[in-house]
Amino acid sequence: MAERDDELVFRGGTILTIDPQHRVVTGDVACRGGELVQVGGDYMPAGRDYTIVDCAGCIVMPGLVQAHVHTCQTLARGRADDLELLDWLRTVVWPYEAALDEVALSAAAELACAELLLSGTTAILDMATVHHTDAVFAAAERSGIRATIGKAMMDAPDPQIPPGLRESTRASLDTSAALIARWHGAAGGRLRYAYAPRFVLSCTDELLREVGEQARARDVRIHTHASENAGEVALVRQRFGKDNIAVLDEFGLLGDHCCIAHCIHVSADERRLLAARGAHVCHCPSSNLKLASGICAVPELIAAGVSVAIGADGAPCNNNLDGLLELRLTALLHKHRAGPRALPAPEVVRMATLGGARALGLASQIGSLEPGKRGDVIAIDATALHTVPTASPWSAIAYAARASDVRHVAVDGRLVVRDAELHTLELPRVRDRARAAANRLFR
Ligand SMILES: [Zn+2]
Repeated sequence: MAERDDELVFRGGTILTIDPQHRVVTGDVACRGGELVQVGGDYMPAGRDYTIVDCAGCIVMPGLVQAHVHTCQTLARGRADDLELLDWLRTVVWPYEAALDEVALSAAAELACAELLLSGTTAILDMATVHHTDAVFAAAERSGIRATIGKAMMDAPDPQIPPGLRESTRASLDTSAALIARWHGAAGGRLRYAYAPRFVLSCTDELLREVGEQARARDVRIHTHASENAGEVALVRQRFGKDNIAVLDEFGLLGDHCCIAHCIHVSADERRLLAARGAHVCHCPSSNLKLASGICAVPELIAAGVSVAIGADGAPCNNNLDGLLELRLTALLHKHRAGPRALPAPEVVRMATLGGARALGLASQIGSLEPGKRGDVIAIDATALHTVPTASPWSAIAYAARASDVRHVAVDGRLVVRDAELHTLELPRVRDRARAAANRLFR
């Protein structure tokens, strides 16, 4: 299949534009040279090299953007169930990551990217592990997904961190700089870099300060975890004498170029600080429930003025990467406490698309279907029994649609999934490689 069709037309769907007016229109979504040129109405291809995909009965919308995933962890799916965060990290996930070689990482990332694309996620913010991040970039490049990836930074002299993941401050920064040089802006801008200090407890003060400075100097984003777990928050207070978000701010990491996963155990003061700095929060409801971490106060964050995105986190804490499932859980999870009107369907669909695009710093390019943006488009079949009758496309997407309903997916104007079939990677091979690598690692 060609890298990109000159013109790609999603023909005849119900279109959730996610534009500022929240318009729902009907007709065609057309990309030319990777850029959206028409949203709604009838489109006639201008040239001879075009592809038209049938979207009758489909809801056409911007691709889901997940602002917190770990594609490197996919081979540990089902290997780390029923643990809380710090045990989960120390007994399974860190030893697993320490054992990952390039072959295993490539298999893990391909498996993740295939799963993500087939379930309608077109862009991710991905935290890799400490080593071999080139393999993750290369897998993302092959898959066709739009990915902002960073190597996990872990220079803290913590005896609980396995030797295979410990690194010096200098090595952590130098490796990050080399990855930026190789990958930031690669594949026509589809691949980008983000500094990824794992969480403040895995980093020295010096590393945190350097990341704060270098990210701004290089105009590169920051991706981290904070306030996921009560034990973690207590350790941060013990070490710094202050709360997590204040620590990130003190080291210069907090800004609109920063996306923080979880933020469950944050105070009203911390919410105000996040909003004042324009930092983004990524809500990961499945992961937070499975690790018994708690529930992020998303309605309160939004009320404080924080931009919130959604993410599946990693396969060992979820256990899948289905963006629609996270979207539904986000729509449901906060109502028991904040009332039935909290996070209505259009707001959650917007979080899962434009909210994610903002967290990646790509809101001018993706996250909504508007002429001039890039062609990251998905079509979701709304004719399955569980979505019929489709009274509202917002409701269908937020509450009823499933990953198996995703029919077509384009990234940057390139059709990567057509009729629910991935065209960039061979699924039997992805499956075999993943099984073989997982068996080898966990033997
Ligand atoms: Zn995570």
